Formats: sequence, C-alpha cells, structure tokens
Amino acid sequence: MLNKPFCRRCLLADMPDQAALARSVRELIDLLPDAQRAPEEIRQARLARCRACEHLLDGGCALCGCYVELRAAKRGMGCPDVPARW
Ligand code: SF4
Repeated sequence: MLNKPFCRRCLLADMPDQAALARSVRELIDLLPDAQRAPEEIRQARLARCRACEHLLDGGCALCGCYVELRAAKRGMGCPDVPARW
C-alpha cells in the first residue's frame, strides 16, 4: 500500500484527516455576524495568499497560531507577517 505524502502546507478544508476540525471552523465562520464577516472574494484572496505562504502549517499560521480559514473570514483581521501578505 502506498503512503500518500502528508502535506503540511494545506488549509483544513484540503485535509481529509481534519474533516471534523474543518467542519468546526466552518461552523464558527457561519456564526460570524455579517458585520464581522469579510466579503467572500476577499476571503478567497486572503486564503490564496496563505496557501502560497511558508508560514502555513497544518491549516494554521505559524506566526500567530490562528486557523487561517477563520482569520481570513473576519473582516477586521490582517496577516501577522511583516510586511503583511494580506
Ligand atoms: S503569515 Fe499571513 S499569509 Fe502566511 S499563513 Fe500567516 S496569515 Fe497566512
């Protein structure tokens, strides 16, 4: 049986083994009031930057410890890198 290499630079949504955690994070995002929720196109653009970032680790940001999918979904949040990537 072939072992599939484990990718440490993925979002939770991209990791089948983390489906329950991804669902929990999705539920938290769904609970955000509209006033606190980033527009979808901004959220997707943020996540594209995270996917390409060397600090993405197991769905979290190695600089701040947040799950990036939740961080990117919040309107007032920013990337903690210097300079910020989004
Ligand atoms: S440093 Fe910024 S772009 Fe990189 S994973 Fe963290 S939040 Fe995403």
